[in-house]
Amino acid sequence: MAGTKCKRVFSMGLALAMVGTLTVHAAPSTSEGDILLNLENRPDAPENIPTNLDIDWNKQYRFDEIEAYLESMAEEYPEITELYSIGRSHQERDLWCLEITNEDVPKEDKTGIGVFANIHGGERESAASALYTAWWTVLCSEDEYVQTLLDEYILYVIPVINPDGYEQSFVINTRQNLRPRDLNGDGIPFSDPYTDIDGDGYIATIYRGTAEDTPSTELEQFGMESCDWDGNGILGDDPRNSGIDMNRNFNYQWNRFDIETEDTQVIGNNAWDRAGPDAASEPEVQALQQFMYKTPMYALATLHTGIQCVLYPWCYRPYDAENPDDADIPFMQETAAKMAEAFQEYTGRGFYTKSSYEDYPTSAELIDYAYGRLNIHAYTIEVYNGGQSEDGDIADCKWENTLPEPTWVFYSREEIQSKLGLDPNALTDEEGNPLGADEGLWFYTSSTAQMADQAPENQDVMVRGCRDAILTMIGNEPSGDGAQVPYYYK
Ligand SMILES: [Zn+2]
Repeated sequence: MAGTKCKRVFSMGLALAMVGTLTVHAAPSTSEGDILLNLENRPDAPENIPTNLDIDWNKQYRFDEIEAYLESMAEEYPEITELYSIGRSHQERDLWCLEITNEDVPKEDKTGIGVFANIHGGERESAASALYTAWWTVLCSEDEYVQTLLDEYILYVIPVINPDGYEQSFVINTRQNLRPRDLNGDGIPFSDPYTDIDGDGYIATIYRGTAEDTPSTELEQFGMESCDWDGNGILGDDPRNSGIDMNRNFNYQWNRFDIETEDTQVIGNNAWDRAGPDAASEPEVQALQQFMYKTPMYALATLHTGIQCVLYPWCYRPYDAENPDDADIPFMQETAAKMAEAFQEYTGRGFYTKSSYEDYPTSAELIDYAYGRLNIHAYTIEVYNGGQSEDGDIADCKWENTLPEPTWVFYSREEIQSKLGLDPNALTDEEGNPLGADEGLWFYTSSTAQMADQAPENQDVMVRGCRDAILTMIGNEPSGDGAQVPYYYK
């Protein structure tokens, strides 16, 4: 790297700090890598695609298919890849990391970069974006731009941090992992999982009412689609989810917000009640923390869906220019804006940028852990917000796709027996109230529920746009003069 590199020494600010630690962080500056990694020079598509890696990016793949693709990448490109598992989920699925770099260049001369996706299981487009970035990098590895990238950087791509939630999302969309939970208190975890009993392939939310009712979510909810596995008459009252949001579980400011916190409507919903039983209680989070702790990294992106933007720390408080802990935040703000711009330019869809706290306050997120504990520049890239904006206004930051229309289907008492195989006299709501003589069940299948088996339109464009945002992040990091060792612990 050309030029001088200014090093900043951070003082410890927080009560959590351990005595006597110093943190050193390379300040961003123009480097040789910057110039060589000008986005204009990157190839947009590989020239040759091996048959076992001919992937349709407009499809969603089951977790075992993703595993097979990662394995094929490692097999086809052994010179530049290592594939390993950094840990396992509650249900013993592997958390795969594909490490991509020029192995002939010593590790200490390169800069580590993390691409971590799908901490929220149902956000599958994020996994596709990370997988695409890995795929594009290895398949284009003969290209000069990519060769420079691999000479200067080490990419650590973990496409699925929450494989249990990822797999469950093919039944019904869920953010959560699968720490066993016993929601109905019968002593058996997951004893009434959601099940498609009407054969439409999706899970409905069930409301009680008569055939004459105008169906709406204003009707009284009766349960979730299930065959009442636990036989207690309440449909779907012990589903496969944990109630835990793993992106509130990291060991940094864990559960900072509690029920008495002002604005609990915002903060409570986004933090305390989903944070898990303890800091880093989840095996998936522990594995990722360990990996980040052991692996020198300058920057990382964690990929999500639900909005379209690039966010940067902090999640738990606003920026404070006087606080030395915040020294790199202006740099991240600037980089995030460039990343969002690259994403927007490629896709033609809007992407905004904000500090995560300004977007909505949370605590114990991955990016706060990464920057707060390890001084890693950390970004949340939100790759997809389904649906259409008003008047095609790009500022609405939507994907501009058409989502399936929600459906309502009524089953009379007689049909509950004949079509669904349930005894209408045995069914009750959560309070134990049985169906009235004239009542039946309304099955509501939302747009989201109907997306359980498909990718949104133009996902192939989305994953390429995300690649450009990631390449922009990489190009902004110092390169080629030694990686940062995160041995300190703020
Ligand atoms: Zn998410």
